Amino acid sequence: MTTIALTLQAVRARIERALLTAGRRTGDVSLLAVSKTFPESYIEDALNAGQKAFGESYVQEAVKKITHLARLSPEWHFIGPIQSNKTALIAGHFDWVHSIEREKVAARLNAARADDLPPLNVCIQVNVSGEDSKSGVAPGQERELARAIASLPRLRLRGLMAIPEPTADVARQRRRYALLREMKDALNAEGHALDTLSMGMSDDLEAAIAEGATIVRVGTAIFGTRETLEA
Ligand SMILES: *Cc1c(COP(=O)(O)O)cnc(C)c1O
Repeated sequence: MTTIALTLQAVRARIERALLTAGRRTGDVSLLAVSKTFPESYIEDALNAGQKAFGESYVQEAVKKITHLARLSPEWHFIGPIQSNKTALIAGHFDWVHSIEREKVAARLNAARADDLPPLNVCIQVNVSGEDSKSGVAPGQERELARAIASLPRLRLRGLMAIPEPTADVARQRRRYALLREMKDALNAEGHALDTLSMGMSDDLEAAIAEGATIVRVGTAIFGTRETLEA
């Protein structure tokens, strides 16, 4: 087996253990392999090991990979900050976008999504840890954005996403993820039909799964340390 097949197997085992501990069903969480900054050969190894979905944060880099790997039909998720001038490329190449935080960006993605493609699956990114520097709407603002997205026919609102500030304090990790789950439940009580909580990364996926994550986004634990600087 390749190293990536082995690390993938270890991450899948962590996910299954966390589901068991939480009293949730096996298979209730899907694994998004975050391949940003890693070469195409790593993605091919992961695909050969049965991984289907990949997360990318940099549009230019991602479009190259998507074009080159098209014959293998991976599922592509955009998880990075979105610049308005990149919305057409994103709408044209991705199956999912996790990082919507502005109505204007949602409207541009909607306008750019071609009719021969299925609606773009999207999540609203929420800032659950409260730092000024982090992206995502402030808690409370997700309601207005959700209403706006619901009126856009080429987008399908699937759920909420968060990237909390790292902390080793598991109780704190869980509180932030619980907040995201409560927001999703509140939106569904208002008539939305959200089925996705995109939360949990290499260091805290157990806490996220305990609080109801349905997609965990894992890079380092699968592919190793990213060496390039992230702006
Ligand atoms: C890079 C990244 C990840 C993966 O983080 P790891 O700690 O490497 O698992 C997850 N989500 C987002 C939005 C990212 O940008």
